[in-house]
Amino acid sequence: MKVFIISGARPQFIKLSPIIQDMLEEPKMDFYHLHTGQHFDENMSSIFFQELSLPPPDVNLNIHSQTHAQLVGNMMIKIEEKLKEEDPDAVLVPGDTDSTLAGALAASKLQYPVIHLESGLRSYDFRMPEEINRKLTDHISRMLITTSMTASENLLKEGINKRWIFETGDTMVDAILRNVKKAKKQSSILKKLGLKSKEYFLLTLHRKENVDNKGRLKTILETLNEVEETIVYPVHPRTKNRIKDYNLGDLIENENIITIDPTGYLDFISLEVNSMSILTDSGGIQKEALTLNVPCITLRDNTEWIETLEIGANQLVGAEKERIKSAIKQIKDNLDHYKNINWENPYGDGKSSTKIVNEIIKRYEEHELEIETNIMI
Ligand code: UDP
Repeated sequence: MKVFIISGARPQFIKLSPIIQDMLEEPKMDFYHLHTGQHFDENMSSIFFQELSLPPPDVNLNIHSQTHAQLVGNMMIKIEEKLKEEDPDAVLVPGDTDSTLAGALAASKLQYPVIHLESGLRSYDFRMPEEINRKLTDHISRMLITTSMTASENLLKEGINKRWIFETGDTMVDAILRNVKKAKKQSSILKKLGLKSKEYFLLTLHRKENVDNKGRLKTILETLNEVEETIVYPVHPRTKNRIKDYNLGDLIENENIITIDPTGYLDFISLEVNSMSILTDSGGIQKEALTLNVPCITLRDNTEWIETLEIGANQLVGAEKERIKSAIKQIKDNLDHYKNINWENPYGDGKSSTKIVNEIIKRYEEHELEIETNIMI
């Protein structure tokens, strides 16, 4: 069977990587990989293909730096052309970006079955473009791959046919478990930055609700200026622009904050695993922290990864000064406890991608992916 894969943004390359590696080993499956170009800097895109030994995408549409409507519209037009040329048996879209939605819409309009990887997540926060993208994509997908029972239940509550759901673990867990040893061996980022293991916090920030809101961004950065801890901060290109637009540059000049460009995957894993804790508004990083047994402080008002909270691996602090400071203090005061922690991973055993590839083939061979009319739910 031929699967048409659509990606475009950093986390998508990572969550696809174990699946692509497994597809390369699978004689029954052929794939075509379209990169929309949504992320285009070398350190936000091509570095991941090199580090993860992935073949380069078959095509890169180079569509980026536009409004949401322009991105989705322009991507759809080009994706439609490529779909007609390739005529695949199914279209695989991971995650919740504009590339995900554009791919799912273009494919479903042409009656190609859409397979959504990382389906069923809900923050119930429609300020997030990701929430819109994931919900719409789920409702036009024919195979919905979920990472936990909560995600499957969310889909059932919304009336999705149970037969279309396939619950496994998370392929981001597969990716990190396949790469952590390599990162420990190959990365020299700690040395380069003059850092010692477990003596710094790692920070990432890129969500629209934080970085496109001057008040929230300012509060977060001010708070981090007021703490003593060393903070390593790879600055996302979107946030770099906002810091400039809002004239907040002074707030990342403080000597306890080490700003760097976004790093490759191996350096980032090394920074994660050696940190005391990770402060983030990223989705993927909350799961990676849990997988690496590093406590996470999430700079958001909600999370779709609620299992991380239930387990005690993550705390939600919003963009509130006192809550951020108290979470940092709580972790510093309990460092010995966290150094020995070994959380049970709710997102699988690191073997999800193999199960996913096998299940896609099975469903295809059993005609389960065919688009029918008059489906009885
Ligand atoms: N990541 C990276 N370098 C960085 C920051 C993040 O390789 O400087 C990786 C990280 O390990 C994770 C993914 O990027 O796998 C998370 O992407 P991001 O936070 O952009 O997206 P989200 O998960 O929020 O959709």
